[in-house]
Amino acid sequence: MKPIILIAPPQAGKGTLSKSLVAKYNIPHISTGDLLREEVASGSDWGKELDEKMKNGVLIDDDTMIKLVLNRISKDDAANGYILDGFPRTVNQIKAFKEALDKENKELGNVFILEIPFELALERVSGRVVCPKCGASYSTHSDSKVRAKVDGICDLCGEALVVRSDDNEESLRKRFDVYKEQTEPIIEYLEPMGIVFHVDSSEKDSTLAEVTRILESN
Ligand code: AMP
Repeated sequence: MKPIILIAPPQAGKGTLSKSLVAKYNIPHISTGDLLREEVASGSDWGKELDEKMKNGVLIDDDTMIKLVLNRISKDDAANGYILDGFPRTVNQIKAFKEALDKENKELGNVFILEIPFELALERVSGRVVCPKCGASYSTHSDSKVRAKVDGICDLCGEALVVRSDDNEESLRKRFDVYKEQTEPIIEYLEPMGIVFHVDSSEKDSTLAEVTRILESN
């Protein structure tokens, strides 16, 4: 199938939607945030530099990100499509990515812009816990539909859940601003290509239903 690119502000549910799409279409979920967090967890010097930036909601440089993604999508498991979550985040990233794909006669695929108001993102961030092993994301809010079955434990792999170091109000505000300033201009660049779909992302089941409907009618 065609690749799927998810572009969204923080807390829009890219990770949760990706997990559902993986289960449905059996293509790999490539989260650049997860790839970077793996490097942080390795404790390398580069990981320490990344950690500092990520905690503050600052973007990692474009060249690094482009190499990371091109390398990842060249792996065999991505030959029949993939879900790109968290990349591209700047106009430079999308331009370089498109250029690299054009050279190999490959398509960008379908691009989904997930929309969520800041207030809802703030509400979500206060209860988010994630699995450090598989990247699954849960909420600790009692009325949430994405609570873990057993508190504090990942439903998928049994790992203990943790709070991400950038999940606090200050970092969220910063990441929202960075999204508006650096990521939203990508939409203007992509819109004329006719591959962009805007989807309301305030409720997970209807978001998945809408994305699936679009994918299956394209
Ligand atoms: P995410 O898990 O997608 O929210 O990403 C967490 C953090 O990783 C971001 O706030 C950035 O610091 C960094 N990051 C992830 N993807 C990218 C990217 N495509 N370009 C630059 N920085 C990124």
